[in-house]
Amino acid sequence: MISIAVFSTKSYDREFFNKIGSEAPVRLKFFDVPLNEDTAGLTQGFDGVCVFVNDNLSEPVIKTLAANGIGLIALRCAGFNNVDLEAAQRANIKVMRVPAYSPEAVAEHALALALTLNRKTHKAFNRIREGNFSLERLIGFDLHNKTVGVIGTGKIGAHFARIMKCMGCEVLAYDLYPSETLKDIGVQYTDLDTLFKSARLISLHCPLNESTHHLINRESFSKMQDGVMLINTSRGALIDTADALEALKSGRLGYLGIDVYEQEEQLFFQDLSEHIIQDDLITRLISFPNVLITAHQGFLTSEALTEIASTTLKNITDYAEGIVSANQVLPS
Ligand code: NAD
Repeated sequence: MISIAVFSTKSYDREFFNKIGSEAPVRLKFFDVPLNEDTAGLTQGFDGVCVFVNDNLSEPVIKTLAANGIGLIALRCAGFNNVDLEAAQRANIKVMRVPAYSPEAVAEHALALALTLNRKTHKAFNRIREGNFSLERLIGFDLHNKTVGVIGTGKIGAHFARIMKCMGCEVLAYDLYPSETLKDIGVQYTDLDTLFKSARLISLHCPLNESTHHLINRESFSKMQDGVMLINTSRGALIDTADALEALKSGRLGYLGIDVYEQEEQLFFQDLSEHIIQDDLITRLISFPNVLITAHQGFLTSEALTEIASTTLKNITDYAEGIVSANQVLPS
């Protein structure tokens, strides 16, 4: 029997893990708390940990895990920017992830953010509930025939690019490894500056790493069209939030839709409605009428949750049985 401490557990994690179950002998102990330096001690007596996007797997945490005999970090997500992979390797801890659970879920959420911001359906919903049937200040724009820039055309970005092509958009893309399949459907790869200059809507789908940290900053905003729409469902720190605020104030950034935020660890996945939010950047962002924030829910569909639970359980049993898995993440 392999025993796993599951951190940052929400009701939907319990529900989907329990629904999928495992024929293999796996014991899951669910903890509501996130994994960090204060909670790493809870891992005593377990063989592995199961974690999510905002759990802290920095070197000090990994040292505690290693001291407690942990041999596996099972990420129930695709991104692994929160794990010190070198430290894990030094500690002889395997890191496994769920590389693709539903790229469509995240791409569709990016579309939802773009359409909501553009057509202001969230405002119409609130107005009509108050008996306000006015159309004043609800003007949007046709996406049809507009140029859309997609940065990162892996699984999610490729699906988003296909959706945009179906909507009659010109799609420009930037990726270190252009996709021949996307080129075949008319997606045009270009350099970042051309994409910034040409796109009416820019959607970010590349991973967060040293080369993409603050990829969108004051300088990149200066190259974009006035009133551009920026959508980020990837990782918060791709955007320099302070620079985005400046661009919103100047009108350069016309719409901002984010499912991720640089400092989301302190905020997202929690009900803070009775607390004073100390993060001044997000409170300022919330105050803009042309900013739409969701709290990292791009993955939150029943299809994606089913896939996350089943792949995570498979990763755990592969580890227990010593099976070499393509889902293992190694330092580059
Ligand atoms: P993927 O690995 O399939 O694709 C990433 C793409 O980015 C690859 O094609 C890669 O070549 C490209 N890339 C890497 N570095 C780049 C750079 N410097 N500039 C441009 N492109 C670069 O990943 P995916 O499954 O499409 O996921 C993309 C990101 O979405 C993940 O890294 C994760 O951060 C995020 N994500 C968010 C949610 C959510 O709920 N909001 C869910 C899943 C994934």
